[in-house]
Amino acid sequence: MFENYLKESLIGKAIDKKILSIDIVNIRDYALGKAKSVDDYVYGGGSGMLMQVKPIVDCYRDIVKDRKVPTYYLSPRGKLFDQSSAVSMAKFEEIVFICGHYEGIDERAIILTGAKEISIGDFVLTGGELPCMVVIDTMARFVDGVLSNSESVTDESFSNFLLEYPQYSRPSDFEGYKVPEILLSGDHKKVEEWRKEKSLEITKANRPDLYEKYIENN
Ligand code: SAM
Repeated sequence: MFENYLKESLIGKAIDKKILSIDIVNIRDYALGKAKSVDDYVYGGGSGMLMQVKPIVDCYRDIVKDRKVPTYYLSPRGKLFDQSSAVSMAKFEEIVFICGHYEGIDERAIILTGAKEISIGDFVLTGGELPCMVVIDTMARFVDGVLSNSESVTDESFSNFLLEYPQYSRPSDFEGYKVPEILLSGDHKKVEEWRKEKSLEITKANRPDLYEKYIENN
């Protein structure tokens, strides 16, 4: 799952340029016994299987050795990951992500790795790989050199609690749908005012929670 994705787009380019380096470790390499299992039944009953503590902890210790590395477990019960978490996490030299499967991972694996739990939203996926890629992609955009134009991160949705304004490219008229006159006027001040006004309108309509934060902070 990771390899194909990591070859693509900006992340792939950043890896080629050695700005980012991502090591994927297969937990099965740390599987137990002849059956090479990494999961087992849940104590106390209930449906489904759980990832066992030993393969995770063995794998983790092998990776970090005696270093202290910020560690995150992708988990629906974690704190919600957002743009500001991405900005802070992008400052770390190294990060370990633990991806769960089945019903999740043994609680002791969270304690012994010191992992913080992060969620990408109020829904449940089948495994931690997709959420992990979401987090890596979002964070990578805040690592120097990954994006070519530093403007791109400062003027986007969620910067200063606002969502992005509508944008248009050529042609200026498509099937009678015209680009707003003001964007063709060349008047930068007016364009900025229009964009701000649209950002405010869209944020208020789609995300009143963010709009309130914007009002509180501005
Ligand atoms: N039993 C768990 C619960 O109710 O919280 C759900 C386990 S889920 C089926 C399997 C794995 O997918 C989790 O261990 C986690 O790594 C990942 N996962 C699922 N939803 C996620 C989310 N919203 N954010 C981050 N990781 C998620």
